[in-house]
Parts: sequence; structure tokens; C-alpha cells
Amino acid sequence: MSLERPIVFGNWKMNGLREDGLALARAVATAPGKGTLGIFPPATILREVILAVEGSNVIVGAQNAHSEDFGAFTGSISAPMIKDVGGTAVLLGHSECRHGLGEADADVWGKAEASARADLLTVICIGETDDERTAGRRDAVLRRQIDGSMPRGSDVSKLVVAYEPVWAIGTGKTPSESDIVSAHAFVRERLDAIFGRESRIPILYGGSVKAENAAAILALEGVDGVLVGGASLDAESFVRIFQAG
Ligand code: PGA
Repeated sequence: MSLERPIVFGNWKMNGLREDGLALARAVATAPGKGTLGIFPPATILREVILAVEGSNVIVGAQNAHSEDFGAFTGSISAPMIKDVGGTAVLLGHSECRHGLGEADADVWGKAEASARADLLTVICIGETDDERTAGRRDAVLRRQIDGSMPRGSDVSKLVVAYEPVWAIGTGKTPSESDIVSAHAFVRERLDAIFGRESRIPILYGGSVKAENAAAILALEGVDGVLVGGASLDAESFVRIFQAG
């Protein structure tokens, strides 16, 4: 599976009742542009969104999945369930899950293995906190997260990494362009070391991407696309981001 660049993914988080969510999905599905578009609505409307974009090339996925396929895990959904309703992708290790729900690297690894078993496109999110950044530990954190949450041996063409500095998510702050380039270069080096140079796992930038800064970010060396939160909830903004690439 090879994803055309730029890759523009929208993480709706806990937003989207049926009416607005389906209208947003339909608007995204008809957006002209070159590249790969994906949306990650809440699980409650996953199936309806999939039906709403049917016939388009928009990827639809879930925002998390359990490491087990089935069982006594109240409140969770699994990779086979996502696949069963027609979902083709999943976000894993988002900072709101790592820091908000206490997901450790090993948890993300287990979830990624389950996602690979179900043949889903797996987007592994990584990123340092503000404290880690100011302590000069960015690369050490990225390395730990890559090494600890990306299983070896699965189909690398179904893997995507999203570099999302925690301090940039939903804050309106973004790293400098040179910091984005250096973080992506570090991630690339690590992915090459683990998966081989030919793996070419796409690396997305995420954190306060909006229509106004998308063109500059998408033009940066080593940036294969963006993962968009807040701005993906507005069809016009999200489509402008896609078309900025
Ligand atoms: P944001 O979120 O674009 O609202 O900063 C990004 C994300 O959490 O994926």
C-alpha cells in the first residue's frame, strides 16, 4: 500500500454528532486535490461515515483500538471490529491516550500488533512534552517511543508515524520550521535503522496545523503530511489544508 503525498489526516477526537459528522465527511469526500485524505471520527459514527464517503478515496479509521481482538474489556473497541464495519485505519498512541489514559509504549506496541493482524493502516503517534523539550530530551523521548511502540515484522507499508509535540497540540503553538525538520530527520533515521531505508514509512507532523500554516509545514523537508485535530472539524479549513500540499 503506497500513500500518495501529501497525506492529510483529520482526528476528530470526541467531536461529531451524526448530522454534523456526516455533513463534514461528505464535504471532505468531494474535495478535489492531490494526495491522500483520511478522517478519524468517533466510533459511534464510524460506520455511517464510511457509508457517507463510499466511492471516494478517503480513508476512514478509528481513534484507538484494544490490543486484544475480543473479550471482557468494557468500553473498548478492537481492530477486528473496526475492520468489520469497513474501517481501514487506526490512530494509536495519541498523546491524549498516552498522557490522558496512561498508555505506555508497550501498550501501543500491543495495539499496533492487533492492528497489523487486522490489516489496518496504523498511525503511531509520538511526541515530547514541553518539559522534555526544554530539558533537551526530545530525541531521547522520540527514540524511546519509536523503539518501544512500533512492532517489528509487520507490513511496513501499513505503518505511518505522526510526530506531534504534546505542547503543540491544541495550543496554537508550533515548533520552528527548523525544529520540525530536525525532529523528522531524527525519526527518519530511527525508522531506517529499525525497518530499513527502503521502508519509507511516512512521517506526518501534527500539532496546531491550520489552513494558514499548512503550506509552509507541508513544504518542509521530511514532512510527508499532517495530522490535524481542531482544524479538521471545519470542512473548509480541512480542505484548504489538503489543497495546500
Ligand atoms: P490540533 O490536534 O491540530 O488540534 O493541535 C492535533 C492532534 O491532536 O492530532
